[in-house]
Amino acid sequence: MSVNQQTHTGPPYGQPQPGYQGYQQPAYGGQPLPGVPHSQYGVYNGPMPGYQQPVPPQGCFPSLGFPSKGSPVSFNSDTSLAPNFIGSVRAPSTSGTSLSSGHLGYSPFGQGDVQNGIPASTAPMQRPPASQPFLPGSAPVPVSQTSMLQQYGPPPASVQQLSNHMAGMTIGSTSTSAPPPAGLGYGAPRPPTMPGPPLPVQTAAGPPTSQPNHVSSPPPPPSTLSGPYPGPPMSGLRGPPPPTHPPQPGYQMQQNGSFEQVRGPQTNYGGAYPGTPNYGSQPGPPPPPKRLDPDSIPSPQLNELPPQQKPRHRIDPDAIPSPIQVIEDDRSNRGSEPFVTGVRGQVPPLVTTNFLVKDQGNASPRYIRCTSYNIPCTSDMAKQSQVPLAAVIKPLATLPPDETLPYLVDHGESGPVRCNRCKAYMCPFMQFIEGGRRFQCCFCSCVTEVPPHYFQHLDHTGKRVDFYDRPELSLGSYEFLATVDYCKNNKFPSPPAFIFMIDVSYNAVKSGLVRLICEELKSLLDYLPREGNMEESAIRVGFVTYNKVLHFYNVKSSLAQPQMMVVSDVADMFVPLLDGFLVNVNESRTVIISLLDQIPEMFADTRETETVFGPVIQAGLEALKAAECAGKLFIFHTSLPIAEAPGKLKNRDDKKLINTDKEKTLFQPQTSFYNNLAKDCVAQGCCVDLFLFPNQYLDVATLGIVTYQTGGSIYKYAYFQLETDQDRFLNDLRRDVQKEVGFDAVMRVRTSTGIRATDFFGAFFMSNTTDVEMAGLDCDKTITVEFKHDDKLSEDSGALLQCALLYTSCAGQRRLRIHNLSLNCCTQLADLYRNCETDTLINYLAKYAYRGVLNSPVKTVRDALINQCAQILACYRKNCASPSSAGQLILPECMKLLPVYLNCVLKSDVLQPGPEVTTDDRAYIRQLVTSMDVAETNVFFYPRLLPVTKADVDSDSLPAAIRNSEERLSKGDIYLLENGLNIFVWVGVNVQQGLIQNLFGVSSFSQISSTLNTLPVLENPFSKKVRSIIDMLQVQRSRYMKLIIVKQEDKLEMLFKQFLVEDKSLTGGASYVDFLCHMHKEIRQLLS
Ligand SMILES: [Zn+2]
Repeated sequence: MSVNQQTHTGPPYGQPQPGYQGYQQPAYGGQPLPGVPHSQYGVYNGPMPGYQQPVPPQGCFPSLGFPSKGSPVSFNSDTSLAPNFIGSVRAPSTSGTSLSSGHLGYSPFGQGDVQNGIPASTAPMQRPPASQPFLPGSAPVPVSQTSMLQQYGPPPASVQQLSNHMAGMTIGSTSTSAPPPAGLGYGAPRPPTMPGPPLPVQTAAGPPTSQPNHVSSPPPPPSTLSGPYPGPPMSGLRGPPPPTHPPQPGYQMQQNGSFEQVRGPQTNYGGAYPGTPNYGSQPGPPPPPKRLDPDSIPSPQLNELPPQQKPRHRIDPDAIPSPIQVIEDDRSNRGSEPFVTGVRGQVPPLVTTNFLVKDQGNASPRYIRCTSYNIPCTSDMAKQSQVPLAAVIKPLATLPPDETLPYLVDHGESGPVRCNRCKAYMCPFMQFIEGGRRFQCCFCSCVTEVPPHYFQHLDHTGKRVDFYDRPELSLGSYEFLATVDYCKNNKFPSPPAFIFMIDVSYNAVKSGLVRLICEELKSLLDYLPREGNMEESAIRVGFVTYNKVLHFYNVKSSLAQPQMMVVSDVADMFVPLLDGFLVNVNESRTVIISLLDQIPEMFADTRETETVFGPVIQAGLEALKAAECAGKLFIFHTSLPIAEAPGKLKNRDDKKLINTDKEKTLFQPQTSFYNNLAKDCVAQGCCVDLFLFPNQYLDVATLGIVTYQTGGSIYKYAYFQLETDQDRFLNDLRRDVQKEVGFDAVMRVRTSTGIRATDFFGAFFMSNTTDVEMAGLDCDKTITVEFKHDDKLSEDSGALLQCALLYTSCAGQRRLRIHNLSLNCCTQLADLYRNCETDTLINYLAKYAYRGVLNSPVKTVRDALINQCAQILACYRKNCASPSSAGQLILPECMKLLPVYLNCVLKSDVLQPGPEVTTDDRAYIRQLVTSMDVAETNVFFYPRLLPVTKADVDSDSLPAAIRNSEERLSKGDIYLLENGLNIFVWVGVNVQQGLIQNLFGVSSFSQISSTLNTLPVLENPFSKKVRSIIDMLQVQRSRYMKLIIVKQEDKLEMLFKQFLVEDKSLTGGASYVDFLCHMHKEIRQLLS
């Protein structure tokens, strides 16, 4: 994927795109490569008719299993696999010592300075950090919604999210304009062309203007609205059949289930509106008792109501858009049919919906999701709407077992066919012309000769007759085997190496961590990633331990015992041994096992508390350099590196900086040392995974830099205790070691004329403006890419993206993974708003904001977020919704959850930390979120809350989720709440004794221990069911979640309540209702 840019007349590719260093341009372009047979497709065992046929999946990666990739891969007969240990080697400063089992005759750490501030082992209450992905749950839960209204959708031709069309959701107001809505009414008006001005009181909004009234579901029974508003217009409620009602101005409609019926008594409504709807000008019936009175908790920042208005400020939380309802609707509407990717610009099902994908020419949404699938034709339109145009790309995403992995295409020595000018790879959108002798590039329009070996005749429709035999012509995603031109220094790479680097300072040893790691590695080393049907992993391993000095180990298979070499001169790190450091596990098994047995004993009596960190990464990097391979460092680290060495840090934590202009410095690294080191690591393909076990501040913002810029992962176990945390750590470690990862990766996103990628978010390094470089890229990492216009787009041709990832597989094979996606373009703003995906939008906005805190005060970042979303919604209101009272809040159907989700981002620990959130937590979460996919950000910001006492013990399904608000919790029930990092088990004070007995094995509420980190294994259906739900959730997430038991009214409940994100938070974060009012006010200001 190197680039050889020729500037052309068209602007889009004009941007200089320097090829990344070291990769040469593959040569095609006009030079016929004679003699290469065109059937270079041997990987598939010959031509395969039609990929759309259910081809047996070519081996799928079980998410926790061992990859069994693909059909037999034509493996490169790579002569350069043998490691050449090259590199200048200086003599070790300390002599190697043979380790004898049992007692040691030396003490490599020796110096007796002791326990400088070893923290107490008791862990203060710690807010556990944040989250992970939300894979589709189990079977769709039936929607018990009675009210399902007309939906205004796009033409039925395009398969669309049925529920997500433009029906303007409206929130009317009792007072025509002035103060924010007192008593919001909601509903889509019907019919859309309803004439006449809205009634002064509580009117429905106008429908989306440019929208066909597409009825995608039968008109639901008329809905109820919550009572206490003065005269909310009602459609006939329970009684009269809705269709008989003549359309009326102000006709209030429940729409799309978002405004479900009020909780509490409703029966009186039926009586109150006999036969005819009450259109709100009359006083409503006596309000039914309400459980929640939102006006009692207006947020101080957001409360804009004059005091006398307060009593009327009643918004029924059931009447504002419900995330649960939207998720359920999407599951019901879209969960049963496969998502077939053949049609341009289709909005995929939500990430919370369980669906099957069939690749018919566009990349699966598991690889790419967009903020909108219909993008404005002009930059003016895009600016007007303020809707960011972004794609969240997960190039190596794991697929479910019933979906097919990308095929590997081998074009032999000639390599993949590419456009001569923009270097885009052959894909389904390239147009073959002149009888198939040339093709026109779908990205830059340049015409390129088809290489002779690739020539094929066209059928009467202009399609190549081998269309279905070639993945690159018929599928959205596929891989090419890369030629040597795509390799560094024109040499095929060696298989990568894993180096385990274990902190053996006092805390690490004392907590049992060192022993735990060594024990685990003994078995885990048998599960290193393998390719295809290879019998053993090609990955070599090496071991280092360290405190203030580094200990390297020679584990060469010919040795009777491992040998240790100590490097105490950490100022100028070098690797004291080459031969015997990186070894094959099977060959050196005995020596490795012996080493892992001895390490805990060797350091059992250490008094060394200080550590170094920079030299540890340098050592790993040097070792990989010497072995001429890429690889990954697994560093297990416990403390702030204060020992004298490069990269030494000081404790600069200062919570007083919060809410000041200097707060941003807490997120910035305290030295540029690690940035420079990261750059060197990326150049070598040295990816750094960091497992942190801090008992106090260790400056994640600085230590995490190398991990972040090399595409690595960071894990944090504060106040690590063996009993409570080992399961979580070991599960994370196992997954991290086994997961699919590509090395030495470079990604480029090409676009068709008119837009281009302008900004990137994620864990990577960029040395120019277009190439995203990652020393390692695993199956969980995403890169979010923002696009801007640089020319006009056309509705006819749409817009295309091609993401090309060049990487080295775990067996050392150089490959290109290609994902293509075609989008629609529009000249009407309504089309943009109708094809947005709010979950993806939130993913982008969160990453944008989290990057912003590096340079701007947090308040500025928060205000900018609110402002942008207000502009997005105001633009819709102004241009797409029909005229209606300013007192109404009208939200586009696809974005009706934008306010609630945005509020969750604003209230998150990074942007609004609670007192218990540490600086390290914030830096950690900030880093995690930056690489999250859409499913992960979805559940991280809006956790899933499940009433497990309502679960059907006889079924496999999950209980229906409920909204994240305290008022939804019943004292008699038990709930699970998960956000990808934690699972809470909340137990109400009135839970039946039998349930407590069955779940916890104790006889009363008071006997439940809140220090449990796992549920006892009890042989009864309820216990089994709850534990199976927890297991199910754990499997869906890329990290093992920490289990926390919370008893109602217990002190831990404060922690739990932070995750009830629809409520006002203790730290001042607005409730959903208050925030919605605030957004409404912002929108009105923009419109006035
Ligand atoms: Zn091109």
